[in-house]
Amino acid sequence: MAKKGRVFSGARPTGRQHLGNYLGAIKNYVALQDEYESVYCIVDVHALTTVETTKDLVVNTYDMALDWLAAGIRPEESIVFVQSHVPQVMELHTYLSMVTPWGKLTDLPTFKEKVRQQESNVNYGLVGYPILMTADIVLYKTDVVPVGVDQAPHIEFARETVRSFNYRYGTNVLREPQMKNTEIPKVLGIDGVQKMGKSLNNHIELASTPDETRQRVMQMVTDPQRMRRTDSGNPDVCNVFSMHKIFTSKEDVEMINVECRRAGIGCVDCKKRFAENLNKNLEPFRNKREEIGKNPDTVWDVLHDGAKRARAIAEETMVEVRAAMQLPK
Ligand code: SF4
Repeated sequence: MAKKGRVFSGARPTGRQHLGNYLGAIKNYVALQDEYESVYCIVDVHALTTVETTKDLVVNTYDMALDWLAAGIRPEESIVFVQSHVPQVMELHTYLSMVTPWGKLTDLPTFKEKVRQQESNVNYGLVGYPILMTADIVLYKTDVVPVGVDQAPHIEFARETVRSFNYRYGTNVLREPQMKNTEIPKVLGIDGVQKMGKSLNNHIELASTPDETRQRVMQMVTDPQRMRRTDSGNPDVCNVFSMHKIFTSKEDVEMINVECRRAGIGCVDCKKRFAENLNKNLEPFRNKREEIGKNPDTVWDVLHDGAKRARAIAEETMVEVRAAMQLPK
């Protein structure tokens, strides 16, 4: 089937992936492969703006790539690679920085937020982050970027930067990416309050054993008003119920919806059911992960091959960019 164009997405190397990563990004990456020529990048350079040490960078990159592959990203079709393996992105970042006003970068709400978060490490990379992100996108002549509404300003920034570059050099070599509005669900952690994340230790890893998964699920916070087994519950405010809606059959979801409200089912039973369904859903992923993981070179081969294909596209773009800028040959 003819593809609609090229999609690009990048994610920081965060190691073994959790349910929030899967529902918020990976699931969508897998689906997009059918419609688009897909370019998926592990953005290790972006990670340098905030990490304190690089000692886990290699293992986190490996684990993340392994999870992507086990979840269904097809490297024979899609390009999967590591950002720093394509040095052209640093070059394009530099050129794009020359058409970006400093004040525009420091005024961005995301920059201000980062400054609040890491007052003692406001490095230049943090300021130039949106430019590097723009370079990531446009280097591969991306048509669309899948983002949630809250990330729309990033794509708008990229589009404006492309227009500034093209205008400055009287060219149209850089393509303005379109935003592919994607519904990115907010997946709450086992605390039922905050977004699922490793730093909060409220996550459920995809690659955990069934037992570990069960233990994490049994720790999940339910309807806070339901104190005793005999109290009726409210599934509408319960994170376990939200998860059931994703991983449990329609009939069982309906049953829980009714029985919870009249105390016909207890939270312990409800969570046990969820753990069972989740483990069943994750079984193919875990089997595939184990299979691929038997030979770690497979993962690195995928990343190196991806980088080779990415570099070929990147260099083509850069030849046009350098020519448009009239840089000496
Ligand atoms: Fe949540 Fe299930 Fe307990 Fe109802 S029975 S509050 S849906 S865990």
